[in-house]
Amino acid sequence: MNINEAKGIGLTSEAVRRKLGEELRTLGIKNNEVIDLVSSMPRHLFIDSALTNRAYENVSLPIGFRQTISQPYIVAKMTELIHEMTSMKNVLEIGTGSGYQTSILSMLFDKVTTIERIKSLHDKSKERLSKLGFKNISYKLGDGHLGHKNNAPYDAIIVTAAASSIPSLLVEQLSVTGRIVLPLKMNDGQRLVKLKNTKSGLVKKIIEEVVFVPMLDGIESDE
Ligand code: SAH
Repeated sequence: MNINEAKGIGLTSEAVRRKLGEELRTLGIKNNEVIDLVSSMPRHLFIDSALTNRAYENVSLPIGFRQTISQPYIVAKMTELIHEMTSMKNVLEIGTGSGYQTSILSMLFDKVTTIERIKSLHDKSKERLSKLGFKNISYKLGDGHLGHKNNAPYDAIIVTAAASSIPSLLVEQLSVTGRIVLPLKMNDGQRLVKLKNTKSGLVKKIIEEVVFVPMLDGIESDE
């Protein structure tokens, strides 16, 4: 789906778009395509209707199961960090959650694979994104530490839950010029980290301090 097709699912109003766009710019997001996409995406469709009036605030919000929908700024930041690359065909996302970040990735990449460990969130987001008309996404219920080998290699991998260490299987599924963006737990809190694959190995760059829910092991099913 491109931005014009997305108009069919009800883009945000001009006023919302301008305000959120300005906020993202003030916070340091530079890529205009990313700013346009994030500020245009109808975020209220990804949260409980009781929270609709807060949908366009630059904050994370609860989505049930002790999880949160990411803050628009962090979605924009992580997207910008992988968007620099020239060939952006195949992306893997760990932590589908509400599907909000997934929707943005879907508009920038040819193919999106998204993994969620909580069955209800996986089911709900799959239904939501399919109904909204996103077609290039494959949804996996599973433990993101393992990645999804069948669709590898990935040009980019985004992890939206804080990992204790860099999951080695994800690194193995990265293309030769691919990159991973993930929140990593450190002694004094979490940092957003970017890893870039090069001929001489992974190059690591610490971006900034962040707060994410933890990346957990295994699958959680409430059935
Ligand atoms: N990008 C999402 C953020 C959701 S919060 C959004 O914008 O809505 C992080 C999500 O990661 C949660 O849904 C959580 O269940 C999931 N998660 C945590 N550990 C995981 C793992 N090992 N594999 C897959 N998903 C995981």
